Amino acid sequence: MSETLAAIIWGLGIAGWLAVRLPRRRKAKRLKTIADRKSLMEQTTLGFCIIGLFAAPLAYWLTGWPEFADRSFSPIWATLGGITMAAFVVLFRLSHKQLDKNWSVTLEVREDHQLVQHGLYAKIRHPMYTSFWLWGIAQLLLVPNWIMGAIGLLSVAILFFTRINNEEAMMRSQFGDAYDDYCKRTKRLVPGLY
Ligand code: SAH
Repeated sequence: MSETLAAIIWGLGIAGWLAVRLPRRRKAKRLKTIADRKSLMEQTTLGFCIIGLFAAPLAYWLTGWPEFADRSFSPIWATLGGITMAAFVVLFRLSHKQLDKNWSVTLEVREDHQLVQHGLYAKIRHPMYTSFWLWGIAQLLLVPNWIMGAIGLLSVAILFFTRINNEEAMMRSQFGDAYDDYCKRTKRLVPGLY
C-alpha cells in the first residue's frame, strides 16, 4: 500500500458516493414534500460536510497543503481505511435502496411517506448516518495529514449531533406511537450498542 494507492482508493469511494447519490437526487426532486424542517443550520452543516469529506481531502491530494500537519504514511492505517471506505459505499447504497422514495437530503416528509423498518432499518434507525461515520473514519485512516484527515469526521459529528434529535422528532410527529415502538426495538447507529 502506497500513498498514491490510498489516494486512488479514496477517489473510488468518492466515485461510489456520487454514483449512488446523484441519480437518487434527481428522482427525489420529482417527489412531493408535505412537511419540511429544513433550516439554515442544517444547510450549513451539510455544506460543511461537502467541504470536510470531499473538498478538503481533494485539495490535500492535489496540493499537499497544509504540510505542517503531515503525519508519516502508514500502510496498515491505509489498508484499514480502504476496507472502511468499501464498507461506507456498501452501507450507503443499501440504506438508499431500502429507504427508497422516503429518502431526502434535508429533513422532509414525503407524500405517502412510509416508515421503513426492514433490512438494515430493522436493527438501526440511521444506517445512512452510520455510513457517513465510516466515511469520516476512512478519511482519517487514508489521508496522511492530521487536519485534512480529521476534518471529515468533525463535519460528520457536527451534522449528526445537530440533526439527529430534529429528525427523530419529525418522524415521531409523523408516525406517533408506531415510531416510539420502532425506537424501542432499535438503536441509532450500531446494532445492540448505540
Ligand atoms: N436517518 C436515516 C435517513 C437519512 S435520509 C439514515 O441514516 O438512514 C433523511 C430522511 O429520511 C429524513 O428526512 C426522513 O424523512 C427519512 N427517514 C428517516 N428514517 C426513516 C425511516 N425509518 N423510514 C422512513 N423515512 C425515514
